[in-house]
Amino acid sequence: MKQVAIITGGGRGIGAATSLLAAQRGYAVCVNYHQNQTAANDVVSKIQDSGGEAIAVQADVSVEADVERLFQTVDAQLGVLTALVNNAGILEQQMKVEAMSLDRWKRVFATNVFGSFLCAQAAIQRMSAQHGGWGGAIVNVSSLAARAGSPGEYVDYAASKGALDTFTIGLAKEVAEEGIRVNAVRPGFIDTAMHASGGEPNRIDRVKGQVPLKRGGTAKEVANAILWLLSEEASYTTGGFIDVAGGR
Ligand code: NAP
Repeated sequence: MKQVAIITGGGRGIGAATSLLAAQRGYAVCVNYHQNQTAANDVVSKIQDSGGEAIAVQADVSVEADVERLFQTVDAQLGVLTALVNNAGILEQQMKVEAMSLDRWKRVFATNVFGSFLCAQAAIQRMSAQHGGWGGAIVNVSSLAARAGSPGEYVDYAASKGALDTFTIGLAKEVAEEGIRVNAVRPGFIDTAMHASGGEPNRIDRVKGQVPLKRGGTAKEVANAILWLLSEEASYTTGGFIDVAGGR
């Protein structure tokens, strides 16, 4: 059966590494992006140059109409969806909770939590045996921050990932009998551009001493765990978590 994956935020960082690895493993890949079309097109070109199948689709995962268009595009251009990676995520400038605004919390939760809910909903409508689908797998990209809390940096971001963890547990149980597995990875300090969004591009250099393995991780190391959870090798794993965090 053809394997078809949507990777949200698939043009950069962990999403790009996941898109490339998914293509290597034989998936036809939809590289979703929000604003950076160039990065998404680069990933698609790399996949196509290696003989794989990929498309880039712009969509803001926090906008319901965008998500519906994203999934309909995949239905039409790639075929029956078998895998979703809810990877798109944001954080904002490091600060204490007492200085944060309600608008900021709404932005962070809209993308990290509601975006993942919307994409999972659209995926279930296509994968569920109750809707005539053939099953599938969903992986949510949470964060070790869900356990650590990110004090003084972005407690809102950490709390959004805590919500994603609970979503993973509940949804996994809800759709298990419909042929859909739902799992999550919790990356630690991973070397991507995300830390610049918090105002500290070199954050990993500052914090890597807290990691038992004494280094930051790579996007590829997270992608390896995501692809395992998507694969048939993880056929008895649902509602599970893989911490990719160097022992933290
Ligand atoms: P990144 O390099 O900043 O990439 C974020 C990606 O998300 C980009 O491709 C971006 O699209 C996309 N995105 C953001 N808002 C979106 C929206 N509303 N709709 C669709 N796409 C959107 O970050 P990263 O480090 O790879 O992070 C990926 C995931 O891993 C996130 O969920 C993050 O919370 C999680 N994570 C990261 C770390 C880490 O240390 N890096 C640790 C734990 C968890 P554009 O390219 O179009 O801007």
